Amino acid sequence: MVNSATMEVDVAVVGGGLVGASAALGVAATGRSVLLIDRQQPTIDRGKLGIDIRNVAISPASQSLLATLGVWGELAVAAYRRMRVWEDRGTAEIGFSADEVQRQELGWITEVSPATVLLWSRLRAHRNVECLVGQSLDGIDMREDAVFLQVGDTSVRAQLLVGADGARSSVRTALGVQTTDLGTGQHVLATVIKTQRPHAATAWQRFLLDGPVALLPGPKPHLSSLVWSQSETEAKRRLALTDEAFADELHSAVEGCLGAIEAVDRRIAFPLIQMVASTFNPHPRALLIGDAARVVHPLAGLGVNLGFEDVLGILDGLRLAKDPGAPGLWRAFARRRKARAMAMVTIMAGFRQLYGLREPGIHWLRNLGVHWLDGAKPLKRQIINEALGLGPVAELLRRA
Ligand SMILES: Cc1cc2nc3c(=O)[nH]c(=O)nc-3n(C[C@H](O)[C@H](O)[C@H](O)COP(=O)(O)OP(=O)(O)OC[C@H]3O[C@@H](n4cnc5c(N)ncnc54)[C@H](O)[C@@H]3O)c2cc1C
Repeated sequence: MVNSATMEVDVAVVGGGLVGASAALGVAATGRSVLLIDRQQPTIDRGKLGIDIRNVAISPASQSLLATLGVWGELAVAAYRRMRVWEDRGTAEIGFSADEVQRQELGWITEVSPATVLLWSRLRAHRNVECLVGQSLDGIDMREDAVFLQVGDTSVRAQLLVGADGARSSVRTALGVQTTDLGTGQHVLATVIKTQRPHAATAWQRFLLDGPVALLPGPKPHLSSLVWSQSETEAKRRLALTDEAFADELHSAVEGCLGAIEAVDRRIAFPLIQMVASTFNPHPRALLIGDAARVVHPLAGLGVNLGFEDVLGILDGLRLAKDPGAPGLWRAFARRRKARAMAMVTIMAGFRQLYGLREPGIHWLRNLGVHWLDGAKPLKRQIINEALGLGPVAELLRRA
């Protein structure tokens, strides 16, 4: 029953992380009214080394979305130009560089909380946007002609519901959407480190038997973000180490690629999940995007970029639509986005298995393969372009 206090909007977005906030801003720019619902207002969260512990790599495809949304110029980003990947039981290594695809950079690194705050400042100033903050989503009623939401004391009627409320999405649960879990069984330990040598705009990734360790170049030359996958037992043990002992272990894990580790920020660890929702369009008037739709191993550096691709797909889909929840409007979008997600989580699970094998024969073959790939310039170029979201496969699966 709709009462007089019901708020009417075209699109309701639940979750204002990087993906939901971008979706809300993009939809508002098409002239539609948007309600953004989040249980909290984002704030800038920086550690003792002066940057956020959560940093993400932004692909060129995502950069163009952020430019279209008008936030790119104000976003603090650090370009990265090279990536070096190697392992602990071999001599082969593979390098990727922006030069190989005639670009200035492979991508950019940005701090998550300042970027989210920037998007919200634009949302707050937008005449087509209302924000409901600090309240939880209490009920969803999907009907043929509209979606009804109960958010605290507020009743909402929307034409389309977009669930962007992260990996533990309550929208997904409320709509009864199952997930396929390709659990890694691992934990990730993340922090920021200060190193003796500058990172030289290079991302470093080393495959260890227990899981990959990655260093992403930060906004200052001597700061890098650490993302270290490992067993739960090891993560707990390493959380309890002193900064000095931790720095020693990390130094040997990355073979001192950036010299001595001079300082370590607060360390956090959490279970590493990989999952894909059974559908990204559980009702004609409901979409799941970002981590609510899929969570990919952070090794891929893809999570937020896949979410931004969802946003691009939504903006494409809305271009010609009169009713944003018209029957069948999102079917092709959902199918393609799910196919891309399945491909990525499967590749990541494959990497994990391949590098977890201990047999000497496999180890030898793997080194041979990596060595060959490093020299196979055209194939490497294709791989780089797909990873940047600029290749034909990424383009096909992005567009609805
Ligand atoms: C260690 C690590 C490193 C990573 N590195 C990269 C990288 O280099 N590149 C990359 O692309 N990705 C990376 N990722 C993944 C990336 O961080 C995520 O994919 C991305 O941030 C997800 O954004 P999101 O907006 O979908 O979800 P979230 O950031 O989780 O946002 C969800 C929002 O929903 C809100 N919310 C939750 N529940 C509710 C509710 N019930 N009601 C209302 N609001 C709710 C939350 O408050 C939050 O604001 C990394 C992830 C990790 C863990």
